[in-house]
Amino acid sequence: MEQQEILRRIPKVDELLALAEERGRLDAMTDTIPPAAIRDAVRGELEALRSRILSGALTDLPEREAILDAACVRAAAERLPSLRPVINGTGVVLHTNLGRSCLSRQAADAVEQVARGYSTLEYDVEKGCRGSRHSHIDSLLAAVTGAEAAMVVNNNAAAVLLILSAMGKGGEVIASRGELVEIGGSFRIPDIMTQCGCTLREVGTTNKTHLYDYENAVTPETRALLRVHTSNYRVVGFSERPALGELVELGKRHGLPVIEDLGSGSLVDLTAFGIHDEPTVQQSVKAGVDVISFSGDKLLGGPQAGLILGKKPYIELLKKHPLARALRVDKMTIAALRETLYAYQDPSWARRNIPVLRMLGASGEELRARAAQLCLLLEEAGCTARAVEAESQVGGGSCPTQTLKSWAVAVEPGRLTVDALAEALRRAPLPIIGRISQGQYLLDVRTLQDEDFSRIASRLGEVLR
Ligand SMILES: *Cc1c(COP(=O)(O)O)cnc(C)c1O
Repeated sequence: MEQQEILRRIPKVDELLALAEERGRLDAMTDTIPPAAIRDAVRGELEALRSRILSGALTDLPEREAILDAACVRAAAERLPSLRPVINGTGVVLHTNLGRSCLSRQAADAVEQVARGYSTLEYDVEKGCRGSRHSHIDSLLAAVTGAEAAMVVNNNAAAVLLILSAMGKGGEVIASRGELVEIGGSFRIPDIMTQCGCTLREVGTTNKTHLYDYENAVTPETRALLRVHTSNYRVVGFSERPALGELVELGKRHGLPVIEDLGSGSLVDLTAFGIHDEPTVQQSVKAGVDVISFSGDKLLGGPQAGLILGKKPYIELLKKHPLARALRVDKMTIAALRETLYAYQDPSWARRNIPVLRMLGASGEELRARAAQLCLLLEEAGCTARAVEAESQVGGGSCPTQTLKSWAVAVEPGRLTVDALAEALRRAPLPIIGRISQGQYLLDVRTLQDEDFSRIASRLGEVLR
């Protein structure tokens, strides 16, 4: 057929929409996709058809039904948000690129509850008047950590910014050269200091900083002593720094507050999980540190947030600082954080209910059994897979020198290459992210949730059949 003739016979947008209506497909879609977006998808499909005809890639017009099908697929694809759930088979528990911690069921439910309607965010139902958004978290946070007072901001970077701005501005803050951390995304301690209007007074060397280094650097300009947890690196070998208690003692002698950026901030002792060099938040509180900050979505296993603990006068000072308003958290964060912290009243309950703790605490036996179970499901779906030993990571810039013994499922790629298999699993409405190690495609079961198993089996069945 003449190309012009084919082009002329391309249906109009309205004709296809009428056909969709006739087939009852419009009603089914408009629950989730606005009519204007459906119209755009139909138009987009017709334009794509036109250019394929013009380029000679298409020499005949498809049936109208087929064009409509393609337009529906296009509308559904455009409906998919770029931010959407994925299945994490990497074995990295706090995978920053995959959204760090997974919320507990209770925390996720609480978010939904306050998100869909009005709430007591700043309302006191007993008195019938304005309340404080701080009231929902601060006393619980203080209670589970043993701190005098507490507050919450947007993330730990914001917490450090607020603390240094309120407590260091116009003066000097002393920090060890071994702790001048860079966290991903251009968060660097020296730059933050500049941003906060304080002067960094570096002391000691990369590997060794002594108490006297801090003491010799104290001048009338000194505002605080800063301790930073080297979350994402370790200085090992001939290295030394004063104990936290010694630093606190020095601060007391000179009337200077000690500030600690704890980074990951675990509320439970992780040595039972085989993680030996993560300090707990409670240790810092007990040591008498004046102001402590840490992340909500690292080892705590909650939403993105910056948790600040400390002596009452300092927390009051932070709450009154103009930046506090700019860095405050919203109702969804408060809801999720409250549920997360609530769980920590009973550490064993927390270990069962908070996904990060459940994943980190999974035993070798349990992981091996889950890998075997996933293999079975995959075989039923027509794939070949076997359980293999693997190494998981904590991630999130925590515990950089340690891996956790784990179990994974190695999937035979069949007629595909390993890379093609990985890509096919990534490019799905619910992407599956695995790991390639020594030519094998691995799904580490430590970071898989129970409901992921059947989804993996059905997707792998589709891809490999
Ligand atoms: C992760 C980390 C931060 C930043 O925390 P966010 O909650 O991601 O803003 C700051 N300091 C240290 C030491 C960290 O490990």
